[in-house]
Amino acid sequence: MSVKGFDIAIVGGGVIGLALARTLVREGARVAVFDAAEAGGGAIPSASHAAAGMLAPSFEYGELPAALSQALYRFGARGLALWREYAAALEEETGLFIDYRPDGMLAVAYGENDSAPLEVQASMVSALGGAAKMISGDEARVLEPALSEAVIAALHAPQDAQVDPRRLVKALKASLAEKKTPSFAVRLARVDRKDAGYELVGANGERFEADKVVLAAGAVSGLVPMGLVYPVKGAAVAIAVKDGLLSRVVRAPGAYLCPKADGRLVIGATEEIGRDDLEVEPAAVTGLRTNGVKAVPALAGAPEIERWAGLRPGTPDGAPILGQDGEGRFLALGHYRNGILHAPAAAEAMAALILGREAPVDIAPFGLGRFGPAQHG
Ligand SMILES: Cc1cc2nc3c(=O)[nH]c(=O)nc-3n(C[C@H](O)[C@H](O)[C@H](O)COP(=O)(O)OP(=O)(O)OC[C@H]3O[C@@H](n4cnc5c(N)ncnc54)[C@H](O)[C@@H]3O)c2cc1C
Repeated sequence: MSVKGFDIAIVGGGVIGLALARTLVREGARVAVFDAAEAGGGAIPSASHAAAGMLAPSFEYGELPAALSQALYRFGARGLALWREYAAALEEETGLFIDYRPDGMLAVAYGENDSAPLEVQASMVSALGGAAKMISGDEARVLEPALSEAVIAALHAPQDAQVDPRRLVKALKASLAEKKTPSFAVRLARVDRKDAGYELVGANGERFEADKVVLAAGAVSGLVPMGLVYPVKGAAVAIAVKDGLLSRVVRAPGAYLCPKADGRLVIGATEEIGRDDLEVEPAAVTGLRTNGVKAVPALAGAPEIERWAGLRPGTPDGAPILGQDGEGRFLALGHYRNGILHAPAAAEAMAALILGREAPVDIAPFGLGRFGPAQHG
């Protein structure tokens, strides 16, 4: 089979590919989405299905070199700023609830060792114009009465938010379906230059053509040079709690707690570099739950709803890869722990790049060239 006539083929129907497709379709482009999450024989899982949905630029970037750290913070902050209207518009357009909650975050500390890095983080975020400040344990318990007495201090990021990633993906798919955007459940084996465009070849020999191609294919696509993007496995668990036990995301040493609709509380997540399986070890769940109970004792004994694992798309320096490769293919890869946060900003920036417009946020720091000249090709 050969299907022609697409302006833009997006490889990957996770949150990054879907959000970009929606933005491009609204700009009038003829887009097709190729996704292997439900491809018969050789399906590739989507990290977006596994995410907790925190929208939290205030917590992540202490570990990177300063310039990249700041660029990443600004990109995340752009995502957070876009999210409020993005969520409202998507819900209105599709009639689907995505559980967007702009209720802020608390990162709690039990002692000096935990609070010192939070203080550094709070001053870095403040210096970059974000909202994050240290508060005492008592002040934290005023915000979240269920917090343990063992909490001595917390970083409060009042503008951070969260969304339900599974509801989000469903809404993005509904938006594209409503616009009759073609979507193919196909695992692609190759994406090659052909004439002025590209040929996409499926694992079962299917052939497609497009003028432009975007790789938004997550952690284990087989389409990106080895080592550039790799899986960082994360396990999580959801438990049933009484509504209102927590009203915002709480991050504690060894676990974060995300209250969702319907009394569901997501506790995440482990991090294992290089693992590409989805097995959830009992010890991982026990560890997450123990760390969660230490922060919020009332979680003890809460019934489990579900446990799962997903594969974050990691990169060598922890920042995403946005731009083009030497073959002219557009890249929207490697969003690691923050793909849900980044999605509206990545869609906005990549759509601008693809359509030849100026992006509101500079994505040059996230280009492939930062890994050395060999990676341009
Ligand atoms: C446990 C856990 C918790 C997380 N929590 C958060 C959080 O709180 N906040 C946050 O912002 N982020 C979080 N993340 C990270 C977030 O999930 C990812 O950054 C994001 O989902 C990446 O989206 P993506 O679209 O790039 O990749 P994916 O969602 O993985 O989508 C890629 C898609 O590409 C398809 N694909 C791959 N190869 C091919 C191929 N060869 N042919 C066709 N299709 C292909 C796959 O089938 C897949 O559906 C978390 C991740 C995990 C695992």
